[in-house]
Amino acid sequence: MFPLNAENFNGIVIPKLFYDSLNNAPFTNCLVCKRHLINHPTTYLIEKAFRKNNFNGKPEPVFEYAICWNCIEKLTKTYSIKSKANLGDYFRDNIDYQQHDKAWQDPAMRQNPELFLQKCSIKGTPVGNLNEFQIMGYFFGSFMTTETPPFMFGGDVADELLNVLSEQTLDELDDFTGKYLTGPPEFSDFLRVPKRKPVILL
Ligand SMILES: [Zn+2]
Repeated sequence: MFPLNAENFNGIVIPKLFYDSLNNAPFTNCLVCKRHLINHPTTYLIEKAFRKNNFNGKPEPVFEYAICWNCIEKLTKTYSIKSKANLGDYFRDNIDYQQHDKAWQDPAMRQNPELFLQKCSIKGTPVGNLNEFQIMGYFFGSFMTTETPPFMFGGDVADELLNVLSEQTLDELDDFTGKYLTGPPEFSDFLRVPKRKPVILL
């Protein structure tokens, strides 16, 4: 992935699945630096984690945020060398990038990215069989970029990813979660993250 500008990206309308659940509209600000992502377009990432409600079986957001390219770079710089190498190995061993990219080239998928996110990008598990899952996608201003396919992965993959991260990197992620994702007290139930962590990947 690379920073995009208005000349070098192809965008599609932001799928509702990536909307801010609090107001059912696109995210407007970077979680960390508060940059306005629509009025001052830049590349940004949205990550959302869902957990299936035990009573009605519907997935509910556990945490969600948008983060700009600058802040991603600053954060991932803090990842230890060991974590970066382990993450690289994990993805090399577990994902068929060619297949994933090829599937994303299908115009039907680009017209309906939610369809593309119906199964785990790593293990192929259908979303209906997952109690927990996370989605990630890349955006620019009011659009979702199509150069990098969005990702969906189940709680089992999130656990495996956390297992390959070093203690140092896990501490950094805990700091990030504690500082930015616990939110004001009135949202603490909504944003409580007992186990799940954001997984910002490059
Ligand atoms: Zn930022």
